Amino acid sequence: MRHKALIIGGGISGLSAAYYLSKAGIHPRLLERKPRIGGVIQTSVRQGCVLEEGPDGFLGAKPWALNLIRELGLADQVIGSNDHSRITYIVKKGKLVRMPEGLMMMVPTKLMPIAATPLLSWSAKIRMGLEIFRKPKCAQPDRSVYDFLLDHYGQESIDYLAEPLLAGVYGGDPREMSVNSVLARFVDLETRYGSLTRGALAQPRPKGTSSFLQTLKGGLGQLIEALCPSADVKQANVETVEQTPGGFRVRADGSWLEADHVVVATPAGDAANILESLQPELSHLLAGIPYTTSVTLSLGYRKATFDHPLNGHGFLVPKKERKYIFGCTWVGNKFNHRVPDDMVVLRCFLGADAMPLSDGALVGAARAELRGIMGLEAEPVFHNIARWPDSMAQYTVGHEQRVARIEEIVRAIPGLYLAGNAYHGIGIPDCVRMGQEAATRIIARFEQAGHEPAGYKPALRPA
Ligand SMILES: Cc1cc2nc3c(=O)[nH]c(=O)nc-3n(C[C@H](O)[C@H](O)[C@H](O)COP(=O)(O)OP(=O)(O)OC[C@H]3O[C@@H](n4cnc5c(N)ncnc54)[C@H](O)[C@@H]3O)c2cc1C
Repeated sequence: MRHKALIIGGGISGLSAAYYLSKAGIHPRLLERKPRIGGVIQTSVRQGCVLEEGPDGFLGAKPWALNLIRELGLADQVIGSNDHSRITYIVKKGKLVRMPEGLMMMVPTKLMPIAATPLLSWSAKIRMGLEIFRKPKCAQPDRSVYDFLLDHYGQESIDYLAEPLLAGVYGGDPREMSVNSVLARFVDLETRYGSLTRGALAQPRPKGTSSFLQTLKGGLGQLIEALCPSADVKQANVETVEQTPGGFRVRADGSWLEADHVVVATPAGDAANILESLQPELSHLLAGIPYTTSVTLSLGYRKATFDHPLNGHGFLVPKKERKYIFGCTWVGNKFNHRVPDDMVVLRCFLGADAMPLSDGALVGAARAELRGIMGLEAEPVFHNIARWPDSMAQYTVGHEQRVARIEEIVRAIPGLYLAGNAYHGIGIPDCVRMGQEAATRIIARFEQAGHEPAGYKPALRPA
């Protein structure tokens, strides 16, 4: 059987492509190598606690995930983060220090909290304050996030603000990350104002009351469940994709399938393997996009035995102070509908070093760190561990040019599309957008060819 559209990878990128295709009447075949779809989005429930094993929310400022959720009829399930109680701590000398208010990432927009914080020395505060006098420069070539921030605010603000914040989102190293790809907004402010602080102060205050992060009452697994009917899902490991006259043949678990259009929505390393024989240069470029590994550990406690006041949303650990834990979210404070009143859940985010530890050793190491940082002695009543090897793409210096070349090669192979967190954003909203864009291009090609499939619904084309 020849499929009109075949999607490889059942994470949010592939499922979004499937949704927008099926909405236009093109019901795709989706091949996913794991027994469950969703990729790194996985929700489980333990003792009434909703546990996010991968992402726990998405940026409300980027519209694509929320648009998809509304289309799926889940608008009434959307909840926002409790921003009124958002206090984040940074670990300094082993203890929790409140992050100063008014930071846009590490860019200060309020003077007093920076002046008062014990997180930075006086020399670091003066260094940060003098940044406001910088003059605009012409556009610079891509640099590392580290070089960019060192130039603006100095080493200490990287150590105790930027690095832990970036590690909490990307799990990566600022010395490797591309500033053009990761902090594009700040590069623009540098070009226009010279000073990031002056640039940030000149920006209009965000309007509206929507929360910084959004999620679903029952967890992001609800989104995956709602997307499931969009495709004909089959568990299979795709080994290779080859071109045929007018389309492709795809080998999965030793069997061949044919398709007019193929969306490769896997991590870049898997895409490199799958596409190696089809286009070696493309495969080589994809293989050069590095990924980081992370582990999430949720610890559940009885509130009656819990010995910390938990005032805020959690803490981040700078590299200088880090053992295994990068950050810890105090789940019930960050989102409602997650933790029953008589329970407490801490969600720890750990790096690659935690990967080889046995479950018991991992829980032991995390508890020892929590004891040191929070003074926590309480015994958890459950733990839940999720290991995510090579799951988060790192946009290293030169990422934009690499992706531009990847896209040039892909454009020359009609019917082939890429989507996923390796290209234009690692967050869920960007992954939804890339999946939607792949679907839109497929639909456009059917229209151009005048071959609208049976059941085609032009009025429902994605915007
Ligand atoms: C721990 C963690 C926390 C995160 N937190 C957030 C957050 O709070 N907010 C946010 O917006 N983003 C967050 N992210 C990032 C975001 O969740 C991911 O970038 C996004 O979900 C990736 O989706 P994807 O579909 O591109 O890839 P994936 O979810 O990795 O899915 C790719 C799928 O392809 C399958 N596959 C691979 N190779 C093959 C093959 N050969 N054949 C068949 N199938 C194959 C894989 O099994 C997988 O299911 C987080 C990521 C992680 C790991």
